[in-house]
Amino acid sequence: MESTNTKSVKVGELDFPPRKVWMKTYGCQMNYHDSERIVSHLSNLNFTLTDEKTEADLVIFNTCAVRDLANQKFYSALGETKHIRENPVIDPETGLKKDVIIAAGGCIAQTEGKDLVKKYKQLDFAFGTDVIDNIGEMVYRAYAGEKKFTVTTWDKSDNYSIETKITPGTPMAFVNIIKGCDKFCSYCIVPFTRGREKSRRLHEVVTDVRRLVEYSGIQEVTLLGQNVNSFGKDNGESLAMLIQELDQINGLQRLRYTTSHPYDVTDELVAIHGSAKKLVNHLHLPVQSGSNTVLQRMLREYTIEHYLTLLAKMRKANPEIIITTDMIAGFPNETEEEHHATMDLLDKAQFDFIYGYTYSPRKGTKATRINDVLTDDIRLRRLKEIQDKQMKIQASLRGEMIGKTYRVLVEDKNISKGVMKWSGRTSCHRLVHFEGDIPDKNYQWHWVDVEITSVTALSTQGKLITDFGKILP
Ligand code: SF4
Repeated sequence: MESTNTKSVKVGELDFPPRKVWMKTYGCQMNYHDSERIVSHLSNLNFTLTDEKTEADLVIFNTCAVRDLANQKFYSALGETKHIRENPVIDPETGLKKDVIIAAGGCIAQTEGKDLVKKYKQLDFAFGTDVIDNIGEMVYRAYAGEKKFTVTTWDKSDNYSIETKITPGTPMAFVNIIKGCDKFCSYCIVPFTRGREKSRRLHEVVTDVRRLVEYSGIQEVTLLGQNVNSFGKDNGESLAMLIQELDQINGLQRLRYTTSHPYDVTDELVAIHGSAKKLVNHLHLPVQSGSNTVLQRMLREYTIEHYLTLLAKMRKANPEIIITTDMIAGFPNETEEEHHATMDLLDKAQFDFIYGYTYSPRKGTKATRINDVLTDDIRLRRLKEIQDKQMKIQASLRGEMIGKTYRVLVEDKNISKGVMKWSGRTSCHRLVHFEGDIPDKNYQWHWVDVEITSVTALSTQGKLITDFGKILP
């Protein structure tokens, strides 16, 4: 590839003038991370990201198949792009019709890519989850005139080796350490859309993170995977070993990981929560249900007793740790008794936050074969009961924050009731809002200490105590 450093970039036979890509991402952090990776690859073809769809030369949807709502939103947004073909956008500089390319990637594209391209005339190509790093080649093909193609192949190599791509300017980075999932929970589409588990090698991840810290100013890293606890299984390595190594990197301030499966949380990992200084005071450990019989039907491989023992061990290893979870209300044929077991679990587990959903069937998963008698009304009512109870627990847990001081990495600002407030996350992942002490001062990406002054179940307010600037002393 030849780069001219002027307006156009020559790649193969084609000139790529500066162009804009607009992306819409649905679903989990893996998808958001994939989108960041896509944008980074596309910069080699002279694309920059735009927030304005009307400015775009290339429109990409990065889809999610896990929840029905995300599915529906994607289909409706894709449907709306029809007008780009019917009423083409005019390029403001040339006054000519813009030839907008439209693509769909991610989990829905992995399983339904060919059908999507066939059904939606405006869709130029679709690509799956394992070919993200080939996006440049696909966009090249589209600009070379090839239309209506689908790339959903799996990477068959034994190794999973990548270098993390980030958007410059933030001190936070997501680092993929494992892809795919071998668990096959009965309700989950992920093993079909993301393939089997494959880990990066420990030394490669350590080198990658060290590079991000030393050369890109990264201070907070989130290790990503569908099931990060399986990291390194086939290589005699483990997540605990990786955390231990990363904990030694000077300049790295915080280390997070997500998502975990309770079955694979080892004693070694529990212990590292007590000893690794950079590992945050937060663990997201999806439980999905408080009923053992539902967990069996979900093929989750653990019992509630095992789960609660894990929480106790984690809290013993790190008394500051905060636990959040995922919960599915109304799994097929869930009885009132099983639902009450979930309600009881809320009391026992004392979660700091729950990502709660009603069950929605995903085509091809085992749970869809159950002859389900539950209605959507029952599911919604149960979800509301779970959420109402959780709000009370959450408000009480967060009440304990009042008067204490927390270290916060400032991410954003917003105006609330006419007052400009900054917000950021504590080590335990709680979002804290505070007013700056100097008007017009930009606190974004500063480390600050904030004393908590008031809380509700969903919002935490505080006052600024110390501003350390962008680098901690
Ligand atoms: S562990 Fe279960 S829920 Fe999580 S990605 Fe794998 S199959 Fe899906």
